[in-house]
Formats: sequence, structure tokens, C-alpha cells
Amino acid sequence: MLSELPKLAIENIIIYDNTTTLFDEIVSHRIGLIPIPTDLTLLNFHDECSCKGEGCPSCMVRYTLSKEGAGMVHSGDLQASEESWKITEDNVPIVELFNNQRIILEVEAILGRGKDHAKWQSVISPGYRFIPKIRFDPKDIKEVESFIKELPKGLVTMNKDTLELDDIKHLSVFESYLQKEKIDFISVELDESHIQFHFETDGSLNAKDALDHSIQIFEEKLDEFEKKLKKIK
Ligand SMILES: [Zn+2]
Repeated sequence: MLSELPKLAIENIIIYDNTTTLFDEIVSHRIGLIPIPTDLTLLNFHDECSCKGEGCPSCMVRYTLSKEGAGMVHSGDLQASEESWKITEDNVPIVELFNNQRIILEVEAILGRGKDHAKWQSVISPGYRFIPKIRFDPKDIKEVESFIKELPKGLVTMNKDTLELDDIKHLSVFESYLQKEKIDFISVELDESHIQFHFETDGSLNAKDALDHSIQIFEEKLDEFEKKLKKIK
């Protein structure tokens, strides 16, 4: 997800005029990191496209930006060549213009992978947690009840012989209370067959598409690995 999943990002930038207080390089860097909505079913990699890298609608998306006079320039000011590629994260500030200042530029976005540059990384901080199983002996129910009373509200829910965290992110908080109160009648085990996987995207892909495409890429890699294994004697 971090290194192989493709997304669109701005690769080329032509600056026609920039009288803002920021250098061309800084403006380019900022524009390069704007999330561009990416439909992976419609796009080819630039160097694998039938246009042989010339740049065509199947491998390149173009935007223009032209603004003059006082005010903030935002990502939403980038005008897509086609409506379907309109920037959705339109509130990212690029540069502030003062009176009589202007910026005119044109950019080209192509597909790339996070392993080549961070601007092509759409998924942020993927990770997983084992789901905890918190148990106690029902004969200790009185002690458990009085322990729970001291905990912050909404941390755990009590069942017959188990406790359930309302959010498993808060396991370490719960465990710190166990340690502090030296509780030995409640046990915490991590269920290695039951995993919560979490990640975010920068908005260029939605989470479901990001996961689907990542699984597809992973499967292709496994197939390739299997083929190569068969060649080994
Ligand atoms: Zn092309």
C-alpha cells in the first residue's frame, strides 16, 4: 500500500508567470503534494502507455492555474482539462497573493508509485492490531465491578465473564490501570486470528479502492513468485 499502489501526482510544471513572494521551486513543491483524484481503471503508466511516453488522455491529466490580485490560491483553483479530474481536496493553500501579484502555470499529472517519490503515496500509516480477549473468573465479579467503577467512562463494557473495550485503540490505557491497581484477577490475551487493520488515504483514492487495488497487486506478486519458484530446481 505504501510503496506499490499507484496514484496520480503532478510531475511536470510550466510556470508562465510568478510574481508572488514564493520561488518557483517552492510553488512547484507545494503543487506536487496536492492529492489528485485517481481512477486506476482509466489510467496507464506513462512509460507503459501506447503513446510511448508522449502523454495522452490515457496516461496524463492536465491542469491550469491562473490567478491575479489579493487572496489565497488554493488547490481548487487548478482547473482540470476534463471535469471528471476536478480536484476534490480543493482547500489546500498554495500561495497568498497580494495586490498586483499573479501566478499563471500549467501542470501535468501522471501515475507513479510511492517507492519512487512520496508524492505518489496515497495510503498513510497502515497498521494492524490483534483483537484483545479480556477475561475474568465470575467468582471475582465483585472485585471486577469495583475496579471498573474507577475506570474512565466508556472504556470497557462488562459481560458475564469478559470485558469488552469500546475501542481497541485504548487497550494500553486499560492495561495501565491493571498495572497501577496491581489487578491479577483479569487476564488480557491477544487473539492472533482476529485482526483489526487500519489505514487512511490522502483522498486521491477512497479507502475501498485503495484496499482492492493493493490486494490485486499483492496477488500478482504472489503469482509471479510462484512462477519463479517453479523454475528453481
Ligand atoms: Zn499515453
